[in-house]
Amino acid sequence: MFNFNEMKKAAQILDELGFRKTEIRLKVLDHLQKVNKAVSQPELEIKFNKFADRVTLYRILSAFEAKGIIHKIMDAHGVARYALCNHKHCMEHQHHDEHVHFNCTECGDVVCLDTVKIPALKLPKAFSSAKINLNIEGICNHCQK
Ligand SMILES: [Zn+2]
Ligand SMILES: [Zn+2]
Ligand SMILES: [Zn+2]
Repeated sequence: MFNFNEMKKAAQILDELGFRKTEIRLKVLDHLQKVNKAVSQPELEIKFNKFADRVTLYRILSAFEAKGIIHKIMDAHGVARYALCNHKHCMEHQHHDEHVHFNCTECGDVVCLDTVKIPALKLPKAFSSAKINLNIEGICNHCQK
């Protein structure tokens, strides 16, 4: 989970990374900050269909990912979702999102558990890891009865 006090305004982030502040870039980034969970491109297409087409959204997500603003998560159903990175850890072409992703089987939300780090794993000789994913399925805090 992100600490909202530390979160920069969408406009400030785009400025610092040299993005032109188009309406749709601001809207997508602002939305990702507000929902505080991982969203899929189809969800964004529905939400912003008045402002951008699929290709535009795809390019925005790719550019944000390349700049270290968001990271891609494959959810439990194999759908790509995007969530904000911790701006202290990630930068252009350097992601450090080695935290657990939680897939709620009740509400379907996928959230970053920033405070739950993936433990170091010992790989067999001559294997080297470039990226590691850990998805947990279960019931999220909002859906607990
Ligand atoms: Zn990242
Ligand atoms: Zn839930
Ligand atoms: Zn994450």
